[in-house]
Amino acid sequence: MKLLKLPERLGLVNYRNQSKSDIKAHISVETDICNSTCPHKATTYTCPANCYTVDDEGVVHFQVEDCIECGTCMYACDQGAVSWEYPDPEIGRGVNWNFG
Ligand code: SF4
Ligand code: SF4
Repeated sequence: MKLLKLPERLGLVNYRNQSKSDIKAHISVETDICNSTCPHKATTYTCPANCYTVDDEGVVHFQVEDCIECGTCMYACDQGAVSWEYPDPEIGRGVNWNFG
């Protein structure tokens, strides 16, 4: 069996409302906190899907598209920058699980 690299594996994740452009993300991040007072930027090296990244200028960015809902960032961020919501499934976005 061929071992897939992380980007290939993430490409196999299926999301609820994947085709909608007006979806409401289940995670929001106040990147102003990331880029001002956060002393460690823990989520940029603990998120397994690389949703939190640091660019060449040292600026933290967040993108929810590859999130696999592992929950790590909820605990890794002790700065109050990460908010989780479980919105109406009709407008929300999240991983479609195979077995519930
Ligand atoms: S730990 Fe929290 S405040 Fe710091 S970079 Fe990550 S999300 Fe932003
Ligand atoms: S829930 Fe997991 S995969 Fe999603 S952004 Fe947080 S750490 Fe990354």
